Amino acid sequence: MSLHDLIFPNGQFLGIAWSMWKVIGWIGNFVFFSRFFVQWYATEKKKQVVVPAGFWWLSLVGSLLLLIYGLHRRDSVFIFAYLFTWIPYIRNLIIHYRHRDAHVICRCGTESPPSANFCSACGTKLTATSRGRAAGLEA
Ligand SMILES: [Zn+2]
Repeated sequence: MSLHDLIFPNGQFLGIAWSMWKVIGWIGNFVFFSRFFVQWYATEKKKQVVVPAGFWWLSLVGSLLLLIYGLHRRDSVFIFAYLFTWIPYIRNLIIHYRHRDAHVICRCGTESPPSANFCSACGTKLTATSRGRAAGLEA
């Protein structure tokens, strides 16, 4: 058996009968699966378990593509598996962006989490009025 026969059994790529719907379903599979690598990479990089926004975006797009595929196939197992998952994905994205926007940016350019009282880089006191907006500080 040649390599070509292995990749194109019966003359079809990976032996799959390709159609537009199969392409949508497989793109959904790859997008959904790729989220694990994004999350793993972010965790290894930070040496702490983290779930980056990219994970939720890939989850959302991948699961919607798989839901579309499931609806086309009228497969109740597929449809139920992806019918409600977008709710926590979107909720996590909303909370992520709200939290990011609540960060305080010091005049030195350092971004601090919403709970910070002082800039970790220059020690400037971060004022209450600066919260939710960039570049707030006390003289
Ligand atoms: Zn600062």
